[in-house]
Amino acid sequence: MIRFEPMSGGCQCGALRYHIEAALEGPELCHCRMCQKAHGAPAVAWGTIPAAALVWSRGLPAEFRSSDHAVREFCARCGTPLIFRPDGQGTIDIALATLDQPQDIAPEEQYGIDTRMPWFPGAHLLPAKPSPGRGRTFQHPDHDTPTWP
Ligand SMILES: [Zn+2]
Ligand SMILES: [Zn+2]
Repeated sequence: MIRFEPMSGGCQCGALRYHIEAALEGPELCHCRMCQKAHGAPAVAWGTIPAAALVWSRGLPAEFRSSDHAVREFCARCGTPLIFRPDGQGTIDIALATLDQPQDIAPEEQYGIDTRMPWFPGAHLLPAKPSPGRGRTFQHPDHDTPTWP
C-alpha cells in the first residue's frame, strides 16, 4: 500500500510533532530483536518515506546509533521512539503508531520472524477487553495543537 495523503504525528508527551507530505511505502511489521528492544514492544509497525518528506513542526529528536548502518530517533523528554534512519539511503522509516491516525495503515509484510514472539500469531485469541481509561492523561492528543502543554 502507498498513501499520498499528508499525515501528522508525534511523541507521547507532545515535545515532538511532525508532518509528512509523501507517499508512505511498506508498511511492514518488524519482529527483529533491535526493534523489540528499542520500542519495548513485541513488534513495531513501520512505513517508509523519503527523508526530506518529514518536517518537524515542534521540537527535534534525540538519536541513538543502534548499528553501523542506522540511527534511531526518539523524544529525549518522554522516550517515544519515532524514526529509523538507515545511512545513505535517503529514506526513513516512521513508527506508524506515532501517527495521529495509525489505524488506517495496516502492515502488509513481516520482517525478523526468526525472533518473532512465539505467542504473537495467536495473540488475537487472547481474552479481549477495552482500555481501562482511568484518570487524567498527559499524552498529547492525536492532532496538532497551537501550544503544548
Ligand atoms: Zn515526547
Ligand atoms: Zn526491526
